[in-house]
Amino acid sequence: MARILLNNVTKRYGKFKELAVDNFNMDIKDQEFLVFLGPSGCGKSTTLRMVAGLEDISEGEIYIGDTLVNDYPPKDRDISMVFQNYALYPNLTVYENIAFGLRIRKMPKHEIEAAVKRAADVLEIGNFLNRKPRELSGGQRQRVALGRAIVRSPQAFLMDEPLSNLDAKLRVQMRAEIIRLHRTIGVTTIYVTHDQIEAMTMGDRIVVMNKGVIQQVDTPEQIYHKP
Ligand code: ADP
Ligand code: ADP
Repeated sequence: MARILLNNVTKRYGKFKELAVDNFNMDIKDQEFLVFLGPSGCGKSTTLRMVAGLEDISEGEIYIGDTLVNDYPPKDRDISMVFQNYALYPNLTVYENIAFGLRIRKMPKHEIEAAVKRAADVLEIGNFLNRKPRELSGGQRQRVALGRAIVRSPQAFLMDEPLSNLDAKLRVQMRAEIIRLHRTIGVTTIYVTHDQIEAMTMGDRIVVMNKGVIQQVDTPEQIYHKP
């Protein structure tokens, strides 16, 4: 059960200890698709990066599953991140990009092959496993980034504006693909966006943030119907 719990999580940056995230409390259910929505600078990425272990927390506690992960490095948190800029290795093929995390964990070769094939099937990228990222379209690259994230069957998915670099048409298509992927593998997901439509169409619940604090937490239906 990969519930994620944030208790009074606070982040202060720099010499003047400016508050980026102020006393954030959230209980993310197992298999939930939770969206952080809000304007640029409201603390979405910082919160996500604290869950990922890419940013120290100033105060509070973060649990992934039953584990207090405050002092765990990213690689020990059993999470996968997907970023806006894909973060693929340019000199590795699609196959090698997806297999990378399994190789450094010393998984046997035949198991890696099977895992990459499963991920590639789900994302329909099996036909270009031998290409380099530069030989792919933006949407295909983002699919490879998703493949790399799901290949390890992590406890949670953390996505930071994964569709922002795509054109409008592809964004709509990839939204649907990410939702389909989430239904297929059912992994607890936190998805950061500043795009209201993305939040409304994708989230089980939406956390609306502003200036480092939570303003509202509701389902898309509730948010839509409130005056
Ligand atoms: P969002 O993801 O909602 O755009 P961020 O979490 O990136 O917002 O930023 C929240 C606040 O923290 C902003 O005021 C930003 O300027 C500040 N901030 C983010 N990263 C750093 C950093 N490395 N050093 C100092 N301040 C930062
Ligand atoms: P988009 O306009 O959607 O970004 P591209 O024009 O980059 O897409 O690519 C269109 C199609 O051509 C894609 O299916 C892609 O896989 C293929 N493609 C692009 N570059 C190469 C390449 N160097 N070698 C083989 N196929 C390629």
